[in-house]
Amino acid sequence: MLSSLTIAQAHTKLSKKEISCEELTRACIERIESVDTALNSVVHRNFERALEEAKNIDSNGEFPHPLTGIPYLTKDVYCEEGIPTTACSNILRNKDYVPPFDSTTTERLKAVGAVSLGKTNTDEFTMGASTESSCYGVTRCPWDTTRVAGGSSGGSAAAVAADACLFALGTDTGGSIRQPAGFCGCTGLRVTYGRTSRYGVMSMASSLDTIGPLGKTVEDVAMILGTIAGKDPKDVTTGSLPVPDYRKALTKDVKGLRIGVPKEYFIEGIDPQVEEHVRSAIAVFEKLGAVTREITLPHTKYAVAAYYIIVPSEVSSNMARYDGIRFGHSEKAADLVDYYHAVRSAGFGDEVKRRIMIGTYALSAGYYDAYYRHAQKVRTLIRRDFEEAFKEVDVILAPVSPTPAFLVGAHTDDPVAMYLEDVFTISQPLAGITALSIPCGMSKENLPIGLQIMGNQWGEETVLRAGHAYEQATEWHTLTPQL
Ligand code: GLN
Repeated sequence: MLSSLTIAQAHTKLSKKEISCEELTRACIERIESVDTALNSVVHRNFERALEEAKNIDSNGEFPHPLTGIPYLTKDVYCEEGIPTTACSNILRNKDYVPPFDSTTTERLKAVGAVSLGKTNTDEFTMGASTESSCYGVTRCPWDTTRVAGGSSGGSAAAVAADACLFALGTDTGGSIRQPAGFCGCTGLRVTYGRTSRYGVMSMASSLDTIGPLGKTVEDVAMILGTIAGKDPKDVTTGSLPVPDYRKALTKDVKGLRIGVPKEYFIEGIDPQVEEHVRSAIAVFEKLGAVTREITLPHTKYAVAAYYIIVPSEVSSNMARYDGIRFGHSEKAADLVDYYHAVRSAGFGDEVKRRIMIGTYALSAGYYDAYYRHAQKVRTLIRRDFEEAFKEVDVILAPVSPTPAFLVGAHTDDPVAMYLEDVFTISQPLAGITALSIPCGMSKENLPIGLQIMGNQWGEETVLRAGHAYEQATEWHTLTPQL
């Protein structure tokens, strides 16, 4: 099946004219048509335009960039000119918002000739860990469709794992790339805050949001990152550091690499199978010549509490723009107050409303010091934990999630249980550091287990090198679900 090729393989075949871009694009479209009734990973299809672009690329006959002619999917929060973008929320779906412009990332991908197939499912405005808060319904795990694909980039992870595209874009505010990559068995990278541009991507929590790739291998992810990373005048939070050749960093060599294993990530409540596989992965690194040691990140236990104050606070501000006046869902009403009531009651789902309320409360004059300011102080302590740790080690290894993919509906009535799913993936965003998620095992129930490789700020080359070395030594990333 052509759609199961990696980017690197497809690029070679396209360049040698062994396959055409049209064939490759059609293979992905056919695969989406055949698997997506079961998965629900794609919410807006751009197939006609994709085929047109593919034919143009074929008639040009040149594949100068590794991503030229490579079909991909984008999470439904990236604005793409002419393609509906709804954040999987009724507030934008009801009139199908169609952006008149491109996000910097989709523009950069367009510029090298990557072929956009459409949009993937996400939790509403990326708030969630299971895609169950999407107005289009849940995305299911390709390994077991009674389970969730994770979230919020569940659609992107499921599509990559099911070979419905060659790669996908996601966003990671508190784990939304890494956790679904872990649940579905693909590779996902959260970048250092500021490494990629957020311009044209709908915000959830602006001080934590990052955008990044999901792919089939670390090598593919390195190539995508090299294409999309770098300074963007339209996003002042992007860093001006030069973009390294990430693919060149994949030397397979981890001899002498200093690895930290934080004791706070192997706690009660973690599924013993997850711990077992992550510990075996650590042993693989030792065999490859890396040096491991136990470390401590003492403020980890406060991360969930701090995150779920800071994120709703930023959410309450970012969601204010959705009022149906310039775009999106609108209602008839007697006066302005009634109008806001009606639009926002009908347009937003429960999780978004919950966060707007918590955030508004935490930011209000009487509670700001008790909650928001306090949470920001905790955030500083968490960042310092990592600063201290990275004086001694180059990367930190840990699980991505405490369990493999959970059952659809398992946490829908219990928001706090859902928040606790994020326990291992929200300290890194609070600290602004990078972290990679790669497959490192299968549970007895045949569900993927993810390994998290954290690196210091701007440490993408190091985490990618470590991930690639592990992939070369193991087979987990090559396993594919039967669909
Ligand atoms: N599950 C986390 C949350 O609900 C992370 C979401 C994200 O990274 N977009 O906030």
